Amino acid sequence: MKKISVIITAAVMAAALFSCSMAEDDDKVSGTGSVAEVSTESVTESSEAPSEISISTEDESIPSFRLPFKAEDFDGIIDGLSVAVGGSDIIQKGTVDGMNYSITFQLGKWHRYTSNDQIVTLSKLFWQCYPKMYKRFGFVKGSPTDVSIAVEDDDYAISWTSGTHIHLNDRWLGENKTDFDCITHELVHVIQNGWDEAYLEYGAYIERFADYCRFLYAMDNGYYNDACWDLWTPEENNRETSVRFMVWLDYFYSTPDNDLMKKFFTVCSEYKYPAAEWDAAWTEILSGSELEGHDIDDIWQMYTSSDFAKLKSEVRNEGEVSELLNAYDIRGKLTD
Ligand SMILES: [Zn+2]
Repeated sequence: MKKISVIITAAVMAAALFSCSMAEDDDKVSGTGSVAEVSTESVTESSEAPSEISISTEDESIPSFRLPFKAEDFDGIIDGLSVAVGGSDIIQKGTVDGMNYSITFQLGKWHRYTSNDQIVTLSKLFWQCYPKMYKRFGFVKGSPTDVSIAVEDDDYAISWTSGTHIHLNDRWLGENKTDFDCITHELVHVIQNGWDEAYLEYGAYIERFADYCRFLYAMDNGYYNDACWDLWTPEENNRETSVRFMVWLDYFYSTPDNDLMKKFFTVCSEYKYPAAEWDAAWTEILSGSELEGHDIDDIWQMYTSSDFAKLKSEVRNEGEVSELLNAYDIRGKLTD
């Protein structure tokens, strides 16, 4: 299965707006890195909504139908979840590990290509994945805890994020039934809370880090993710393009007392090192670890010569364990 990605332009990224969907003219990869053979045509050219839905209001932002959801549809996702269904929104509020979060599904432009069950699954994903990622990275710069996801039949390919607002093309999950973790990737952009390319070694780290988290924090231990998405090997031939390098660095060299990826996140968030000064940034990130004193280019060579860099991370069927995860219990290293 071929991988797809999209190069994000500097102008777009500078606005803290993360477009992770595939662009028709891009021949190289992008953010969600979702399944291959994506048809942008089907997304952009077909405008027929399923016949059972009637959108006949004068103002299309106000749907003429009652949302076909009840609060009970979301029972059991987490203890104490409050759910309100009103207008075109489903608003959920809850507490995980002492932190209050909310997720609002905005369905004013939803034409039911994404099924009700898939929206319930996206809700589960939010409550499972966002607090876990927040617990590790969100406190660094007080990232937002109130997030919205618009599921909308619109003219972009997959998904994108601006601030706390995630946009998911209604047709994406209609055609790619289990690519739920594209939203794990988008949630990372909310936690990044506006990284500035000028203070990253490579602007591409915005997308690489989002996919590193997508791999690590994928819903249900990767049950869906690993059958439809993989780490980009061997195309990722330097650290600018490599998600797997981040996974390797974290797996072998982060410790409970010296979390290298949390330090990476912190350095990226504090705008402390302009791109040209990232030798100093890496020195700070690697300090106190087994890699202290090593040049980052030498560390890359260590990585590329490892079997970790080569093992297959994608599986044929949902729930199977990949070669990589069979050899290395990467997600098991996450204690909580
Ligand atoms: Zn992205």
